[in-house]
Amino acid sequence: MIYTDTRDKSVKTDFRTAVMSGMNEKTGGLYIPVEFPKLSNEFLKRTTEPSFREIAFEMAKPYVEGEIPDVDLTAIIQDAYPFVSKVVAVDPTAYVLELFHGPTCAFKDFGARFMARVMSYFNRNESTRLHILVATSGDTGSAVGSAFHNVPGLDVTILYPEGKISPLQEKQLSTFDGNVRALKVKGTFDDCQKLVKTAFTDAELREKLRLSSANSINISRLLPQSFYYMYSSLVVRNQSWRVNKIENPAIITVVPSGNFGNLTSGLIAREMGAPITGFVAATNTNRTVPDWIATGKYEARPSVETYANAMDVGAPSNYERIISMYSLEQVRSLFASYWLDNEGIIKSIKHCFERTGYTIDPHGAVGWKAWDDIRSGALQALKDGNKGDYTKPGLTPNLPAWADSVLNKQAVGIILETAHPAKFGATVTQATGREPIIPERLEKVMKLEDKAIPMENNYNMFKEWLLANL
Ligand SMILES: *Cc1c(COP(=O)(O)O)cnc(C)c1O
Repeated sequence: MIYTDTRDKSVKTDFRTAVMSGMNEKTGGLYIPVEFPKLSNEFLKRTTEPSFREIAFEMAKPYVEGEIPDVDLTAIIQDAYPFVSKVVAVDPTAYVLELFHGPTCAFKDFGARFMARVMSYFNRNESTRLHILVATSGDTGSAVGSAFHNVPGLDVTILYPEGKISPLQEKQLSTFDGNVRALKVKGTFDDCQKLVKTAFTDAELREKLRLSSANSINISRLLPQSFYYMYSSLVVRNQSWRVNKIENPAIITVVPSGNFGNLTSGLIAREMGAPITGFVAATNTNRTVPDWIATGKYEARPSVETYANAMDVGAPSNYERIISMYSLEQVRSLFASYWLDNEGIIKSIKHCFERTGYTIDPHGAVGWKAWDDIRSGALQALKDGNKGDYTKPGLTPNLPAWADSVLNKQAVGIILETAHPAKFGATVTQATGREPIIPERLEKVMKLEDKAIPMENNYNMFKEWLLANL
């Protein structure tokens, strides 16, 4: 596969370069495959229960062709995915896709684990170790730390702002041993990011250490996220296990979004033939993308803190990939868009629990409310000519091409549940009056010893530490 650059289409490179460099330093653009090959009809039309790993293999194959042989790709996928994604029917027209069955209980495990194994593969003939530096405001650090833990040839250093992440998040990234370590920086997330960026531009340091990043803009984190879109849409289309089903429903995938990597992966899956009719781009108060869809003007802004904190992004980097794939008109036809404030998030968790018995986390709750509003009147109101107000929480005044399938009751929603509710126990308990059940793997990590190393917000001290310890 040839990869190009969102800012310069004359750029042509291979998968290895795209993965190992993360982004194109020269243009500031992001790497993207030149095409998204459709899977064979024979594969897509099968009605037997699809296997996640088989889908993963078929979907990854064209993107690594000529660089990773089939046997090695199979091994990478087997090692990356000892866990599943689960489709749960919560009512006749709503499914939840649970993406939290991995080690850190959030969907980022799918991307981070694939990336770690691919990087290790590309590094296999090097005589020196590759050092991954990652700054985190919470969730990314634990997914990356866990994904790279004990992966041969690679080291990870995680920088996080001391006292500014939740106790559970801190445990999840500071209790590793061996090749993964955490530095608690006396500063903010932006300070952490600055230390990492300065290290990458420090020629003297780079002469001594091989450095790389594990940023969410890396294409090797996006491609594997497309696997579960294909998987869930095939499961829902077949619905062999379901009574009272809608035959051949329009499948609308609802994506709680921040940096829009997850949604971009959904677009890739659709291009490759996943039976997805449309998407709902659902955000919290950080509504840069809903506003863009409403007004046609894209204005990045500083992020604001919400209960769905992994979506607190005011300048979503994958916007650049989306507009390199589609025009605004195409986006408006393919997407509904929706945003919800904190009060709405609490109400949504409560509503979902009371209506269906399902405990949803604050991120998934944005998706639940979006879908529930869409199917119970919000789209109809737009169709009837109601202008709507995009500055208020709710459905963006934009009528997607698939609106009639919802109005004719021929559509089902798949809501992506991006994290386990126990990761956000306080918010969920506030909403439902009950504490969510804590999975064993989270309980275990709470008991581990914190090994984070204190670090001043000072580049020279950081550099000295790197040189002395890596
Ligand atoms: C990262 C994250 C998101 C947002 O995903 P993007 O790809 O950044 O849009 C949503 N929910 C959870 C739990 C996350 O960790």
